[in-house]
Amino acid sequence: MKLNKTISLVGALILAALLAFPQAAGATVCDNVANTFQSEFGELVPKPACPPANSSTTPGTNHLTTTAYLPTGNPGERRLLVMYLTSDGKNLQETYEQRTKYQTIQKPIPAGTFKVLTVLVTYPQTIDTNSITLLQNEQVKINNQHADFASSHGYSEPIVQFNFTNVQIPGSNIPEPHTLTGVHDALGNWQATKNLNTSDFDFVVVLNINPSMSEGGKSYPGSPAPYFLYMGNFNTWKTILNATDFSYIARAAYHHEIGHYWGWQHDWISDSPDPFITAPILFGWLDTDGDGIPEILDPCPYGRICPLPNLLNRAAIDPMALILPPEVYVKWAEGRHPHVPREPDVVEIEQALRMMTPKQREESLVKARKLGAILEMFEKASRKLNSKTN
Ligand SMILES: [Zn+2]
Repeated sequence: MKLNKTISLVGALILAALLAFPQAAGATVCDNVANTFQSEFGELVPKPACPPANSSTTPGTNHLTTTAYLPTGNPGERRLLVMYLTSDGKNLQETYEQRTKYQTIQKPIPAGTFKVLTVLVTYPQTIDTNSITLLQNEQVKINNQHADFASSHGYSEPIVQFNFTNVQIPGSNIPEPHTLTGVHDALGNWQATKNLNTSDFDFVVVLNINPSMSEGGKSYPGSPAPYFLYMGNFNTWKTILNATDFSYIARAAYHHEIGHYWGWQHDWISDSPDPFITAPILFGWLDTDGDGIPEILDPCPYGRICPLPNLLNRAAIDPMALILPPEVYVKWAEGRHPHVPREPDVVEIEQALRMMTPKQREESLVKARKLGAILEMFEKASRKLNSKTN
C-alpha cells in the first residue's frame, strides 16, 4: 500500500538523519548559560545567546554577556533578560558598571522599519551645502549594513531598516536643541519645516555640530515615542565636516544611541562587533535555535517550549503532531498548513530534526516506528477481513 511504503521510507530517512547527528559530548558553555537563566530568572532558555567572553583581562570587562528578548504578547515590546557571566557561563560576574543581571520591559525592540527625522543644525564653520549629501550617503551605508547582515545570514529581508527624513535648520533658529520640545518648537517656527510633526516619527535625531561647543551624545531610553536623541560636537570639530567625519557621526547616532534605545548598555560585550555596536546575537539578530527565524522575530525564541492549542485536533489531520515534540511541532506547522493534507518531504523532516536534541530525535524515531507498525497491522487486518468477505 502506498501510505505504508511512505511511512517506512520516512522511518528509514529519520534513522539516516539521526545517524548524521552525533550525540553532544558534555555540557557546553551555552548549556551552562541555559542553566544559569534557569537558576537566576527561573526561565527556560534552552538555546541562549552565548557569545564568547571579552578577551580583555581587565577586571569587570572580561565577562560573557547574554541576553534574551522574550515575547510579552505585545508585538512591539519584549521582556529583556540580561546576565553578565564568567567565561564558562556558570556564574554571575559584576561589570565595571556594577551590573550582574537585570530584566526590563524593552520598547522599542531591535527589529522593524523606523521612521527617523534627522535635524542637521547648520553653522558656517562646520556645515556647508554638500553636508546633507554626505549625511545621506552614510545613512544609506547604515541601511546597507543591516541588509548585508540579513542576506549573509540567509534571511529574506533585513531585521532593521531606517526610513530617513532630513532637514536643516540654522543654529541661530534653534535656541534649545537639547530637548524634543525645543526641536519641535524650532521646526514649527522655521518656514521650511513648519509642516513637519515630530510625532510622525519613531526617532527624532538632532545633529548639533556647534563649533563653539564640545559635548557628547545623549539618548533617553525608557521615554515614550518619538524617541529623542541628541548628538553634540563630540570631536570638537571647527572646520567643514568631510565624509569620514559624517561616518563617525552616523555611527554614533544610528548604531550607538539608537542601540541604547534597543536595550544596549556600554558593558555588554564589545569584542569585534563591527559594523554594529555590539555582537548581533545580543540584539536577537541570530537564529540560535536553528528554526530559520532570528530570535528577535521568533514567536517561540531560543528553543523555548510554547503553548500549542488544539494539539489533538491537529494530530487527527497531521500525524507529525504525534511524532514531534510539541515545541518543535509548533515551528514545523508554522511553515506548513496542516489543514491541507500533504505528506512531508525529506528536507522538511531533516529541518525538524535539526531543531531537536539527540534525545528528542531518538524519541521521535521510536514514535515514528510505532506509527509505522500500527499501519502495518491495519494493513494486515484489512487484508484478512477482505479475503474473508470476498
Ligand atoms: Zn552610550
